[in-house]
Amino acid sequence: MNTYAYIEKQDQEVFDALQGEESREASGLELIPSENYVSKAVREANGSVLTNKYAEGYPGRRYYGGQDYTDAVEQLAIDRACKLFNCKYANVQPHSGAPANVAMYFALMEPGDTVLGMDLSHGGHLTHGHPTTSINKVFNFVRYKMKDVATGEIDYDELRQVALEHKPKIILAGFSAYSRELEYQKFVDIAREVGAYAVADMAHIAGLIAGGVAKNPFDYGFDVITSTTHKTLRGPRGGLILVREDKEIAQKINKAVFPGLQGGPHMNTIAAKAVAFGEALHPSFREYGKQILKNAKAMEKVFLDANVRLLGGGTDNHLLLADVYGSLGVTGQEAEDVLDEIGITLNKNMIADETRTAMDPSGIRFGTPALTTRGMKEDEATRIAEIMISVLKDKGNQQLKEGYKAEIEALCAAFPVPESFV
Ligand SMILES: *Cc1c(COP(=O)(O)O)cnc(C)c1O
Repeated sequence: MNTYAYIEKQDQEVFDALQGEESREASGLELIPSENYVSKAVREANGSVLTNKYAEGYPGRRYYGGQDYTDAVEQLAIDRACKLFNCKYANVQPHSGAPANVAMYFALMEPGDTVLGMDLSHGGHLTHGHPTTSINKVFNFVRYKMKDVATGEIDYDELRQVALEHKPKIILAGFSAYSRELEYQKFVDIAREVGAYAVADMAHIAGLIAGGVAKNPFDYGFDVITSTTHKTLRGPRGGLILVREDKEIAQKINKAVFPGLQGGPHMNTIAAKAVAFGEALHPSFREYGKQILKNAKAMEKVFLDANVRLLGGGTDNHLLLADVYGSLGVTGQEAEDVLDEIGITLNKNMIADETRTAMDPSGIRFGTPALTTRGMKEDEATRIAEIMISVLKDKGNQQLKEGYKAEIEALCAAFPVPESFV
């Protein structure tokens, strides 16, 4: 637990909020698949003196003096990212995943150009051209979908047809709510055929790729990968853009990030990225990756045994999407609320071909990265899934919920969030 000694002395209100979050994270079970717990080392770097420093530009080419240590730390982050993901160029400056995608679009396209991305209701992310985003006003987004929601298989024939028809500049693979592995080679083949860049957004699965338990799109010839650093990769809140080997593309990406989109890089966050990439290069991170998948498979089994429909039929990665409305008559919002009551945090989610609303959809999305960080294994994952099903089937049963709330609390107490992973 942190002490926050200086904050406690000078700012009681912020202190109270931080203490509240400390105990919420310690005592609650986190199943949101995009969340994780970072090491103390990552937090030390994130809270370091580097927050004081302006470093506009890139290592060796800055617009301010005094860059000995910022250059060192950014170069470390770049080198480690390249090693981790087997590529030649990395930009570690994007403040988060969304600006990483915006910079990537502007680097590779002119306004009005077209992106071919996954249908948003089939798992694509807001930044892949949701109507409410600014980027949707600048670029043209067209879509591919799953061919079969029961297996999660992408409709590669449709993808190719749409690509031939719309001549996109970018074909985008990568999702926020999709549980299956992709056939990256098919994306690359179609991209080459129509003269598009093949780009993967691995925001969710970066840690699985780094841990060697998911395929690396670069092994199939993808040109660019964008990512967050705070989801499965277990680093600070931030973004990342990687370029496989093309120097010209890398230069375009760098210009699009700075000065194109951002000002000064957050050097404290970049130091924390360097620390997190160092952790991900450690052999223990491979074990972490494997356990994330095993835990997800354990939860999958419980849900399938209970005849709850899983989108894509199950999972190859860290997350599951369950049609709780179709299978149990409980809406996504109701499920989120009742699970919250017993100390389990996850999110409601639209499912493919949703018939309800975004505010109260049919599904829930949940995953195993955070509980795996706590050291939980298949037995715990299985039990958690059993509790979820039981409470969803009997959500008005107050006594049942009180029992489960106590059990979840005890489980979290038995698996405290670790301070170090290496
Ligand atoms: C989370 C996510 C992002 C955006 O990341 P932020 O850090 O929240 O801006 C982009 N793309 C995908 C696929 C994501 O899952």
